Amino acid sequence: MPRRRTKRGTERTPLAGEADVLVCGASFAGLAVARELAGARRADGAPARVLMLDRYEIGERQTSACAAPTGWLEALGLTDALRQTFRDLVINTPHGTSRYRLPWSWSTFDYPTLCELLDDQNDATFETAKVEGRSGATVHTDRGDVSAPLIVDALGWRRMLAPVDTRVQPPDAPLSRGLEVHPGGAGDELEIWIDRSYVREGYSWSFPAGEEVRIGVGSFDPRAHVKEPTVRLAEDLGTEAVGYQGNWIPHRLRPAAEDGIFFAGDSAGHCLPLSAEGIRTALYFGIACGRELRDVLEGRTTREAALRRYAAFSAGHRHRFGSMLSVQRLIPHVPPRLLTVLIRAMGTQRFVDWTFGHYLKTAPPEFVHAAPPRVSAARAPEPLAVAA
Ligand SMILES: Cc1cc2nc3c(=O)[nH]c(=O)nc-3n(C[C@H](O)[C@H](O)[C@H](O)COP(=O)(O)OP(=O)(O)OC[C@H]3O[C@@H](n4cnc5c(N)ncnc54)[C@H](O)[C@@H]3O)c2cc1C
Repeated sequence: MPRRRTKRGTERTPLAGEADVLVCGASFAGLAVARELAGARRADGAPARVLMLDRYEIGERQTSACAAPTGWLEALGLTDALRQTFRDLVINTPHGTSRYRLPWSWSTFDYPTLCELLDDQNDATFETAKVEGRSGATVHTDRGDVSAPLIVDALGWRRMLAPVDTRVQPPDAPLSRGLEVHPGGAGDELEIWIDRSYVREGYSWSFPAGEEVRIGVGSFDPRAHVKEPTVRLAEDLGTEAVGYQGNWIPHRLRPAAEDGIFFAGDSAGHCLPLSAEGIRTALYFGIACGRELRDVLEGRTTREAALRRYAAFSAGHRHRFGSMLSVQRLIPHVPPRLLTVLIRAMGTQRFVDWTFGHYLKTAPPEFVHAAPPRVSAARAPEPLAVAA
């Protein structure tokens, strides 16, 4: 359970003032940024004032099915949040089932516990407040205005702190949509379905997590509705559709720095387009962002250089994200029987080791302990287009 409850009524005292860093959003990306700033000092030697805001208490609202590579949870010291670990991935199509033995494992975890453990690793001040907008270096919230020279948007897919004309609006933006239910029950398999009877472009899943199973449908087409197939899948699996959780999911990289703001996690489109896996990438880019901010605070670089370098670091992943987006677009055009044959053929151990090894390298757990990223802004690709 979350340690504190969201401030309500008279507890919502006015919030105003200045911070050195303002981290908006306290889920995976925001908590990773704050973690990297623990113990940071300003160039004048004073402790950095890091303020983190979220509309909900930390860990209060689960934002995903909470399955991630176990290595990431180990690297961040979060294994107490683990619910179940899986070495095999079971892929179902209408014409058969394949089982891949992965070179690394996935784990499902408990969201409130994980957030609490990650939150223990920062010394930021946390306040519950709803972010409503921004003017320059001032963020407007329902409890007042807060200013900071360094501002991070870790608020998720809406990209709230971007200039209004570049914000993301479904259904025209490059977004997927996902919905899941969390019935009580048990299971041993991490399973996905690539089955057009549930969703034409996308996939469905069943992720056991201790005493519950997270069953859902993700559509790469933002116009396709996912509630009916989610309910149907739950019924097909002999369980009830209870405990809904859903959201939009970005599937294209967006600029990680814009108008003086750092964006990390879903706000920057840091979710892998093929799998809609966005937890480890939110952690990864959050860490990269936090390292840049720390360099600014401690006087090793300027804000402008940090913005450029972080944007370049993020854009440096454009090729990998683009390749996954191409596969995402291709799969719905492959005839189902051929797809089944291909999935089976790709199940040779060598191929599985190779593909999943590469997949993990996009945001590897070793990054947690690695030296700060050093991407030359001079070699940076052109900024990404925001248009859909
Ligand atoms: C149904 C579903 C299942 C998924 N399952 C998985 C999975 O199993 N594994 C995986 O890797 N990825 C999964 N994803 C994707 C994953 O959830 C996201 O990519 C990930 O949560 C991104 O993290 P984030 O920190 O950037 O944003 P979020 O986790 O969305 O966090 C944003 C934070 O900002 C806060 N916030 C938002 N707006 C405001 C506001 N106006 N004011 C103040 N605070 C605000 C929110 O309360 C939240 O705490 C799933 C997505 C969906 C929809």
